[in-house]
Amino acid sequence: MDIICNDFSKIPTQKIVFSPQHVFSKISVAMLRLDLLHPVISGNKWFKLRYNLAFAQSHQFKTVLSFGGAYSNHLIATACAASAAGLRSVGIVRGVYAAQNKTETLQHCEALGMQLHFVSREEYAQKEDEKWLQQLREKYPDTYIIPEGGNNELGRKGIAEIATLISPDYTHVAVSVGSGATFAGLRNALPESIKLIGFAPMKQGSYLAQNIATIKQNKELKDEFHFGGFGKWNKKLLDFMNEFYAQQHIPLDVVYTAKMMYGVQTLIAQNYFPEGAKLLCIHTGGLQGNVSVKSLLNF
Ligand SMILES: *Cc1c(COP(=O)(O)O)cnc(C)c1O
Repeated sequence: MDIICNDFSKIPTQKIVFSPQHVFSKISVAMLRLDLLHPVISGNKWFKLRYNLAFAQSHQFKTVLSFGGAYSNHLIATACAASAAGLRSVGIVRGVYAAQNKTETLQHCEALGMQLHFVSREEYAQKEDEKWLQQLREKYPDTYIIPEGGNNELGRKGIAEIATLISPDYTHVAVSVGSGATFAGLRNALPESIKLIGFAPMKQGSYLAQNIATIKQNKELKDEFHFGGFGKWNKKLLDFMNEFYAQQHIPLDVVYTAKMMYGVQTLIAQNYFPEGAKLLCIHTGGLQGNVSVKSLLNF
């Protein structure tokens, strides 16, 4: 299966220079541009999917099924990667209302051949319940189920490969957190000398602390940069995205990486990082999620 660039050595690391420089000159900041992998299967999503899809293919499954909301980067990446791998795909979508007024993300999923199955929030909450999964397997025969966010062992195995792109010279790595698969996979694969900082883009992101409690130390979860909740934004965030693009020529996505970089900039200004720190921020992609704010962005 050769869907997209698997030569990860080509992924650039780009230096970031915040201004005013005298405030930020004590530390160095760079960004790992996983967003450049592919326009749809971008960032961390490809790493989480690739071993799952390879498993489905080698075990003669015909279909992959996964879960997500109406704006899910994971669903659209699954639809695109499955189609390229010659597999059918089914997306279980949270919220029956989403069927009436399909988001661009969901329309794109369908255009990529994904069959959408809308369920109530209550039903969706059973996404890890083996009884419901069994019913789904009966409804969709020969189907390999990938958990929400690609958060399983094969997903984390793929994420561990991101760590091989990160020099041990870095003192800190920043990453955005959704299901926590990327955070956990990275924490386990990075040297313990590197502090991993996760940025939760939703309110009450601290629930994630449970998911990641058992993994290696030298990690911290920041949950104050949520801008009102998951998928929520305001003018301040969009202004930051436009300014960041003007200065760094890097597009950020409004759901995850913009909030992370806003948080990073804030922490730097608050002297969170010790002098001499070398920080690598991971661009986890997700730029398709900007369609809803396209007209307000300068890129
Ligand atoms: C999905 C996603 C994340 C979250 O990844 P998890 O492994 O679910 O924590 C972060 N950033 C972007 C851009 C994403 O699309």
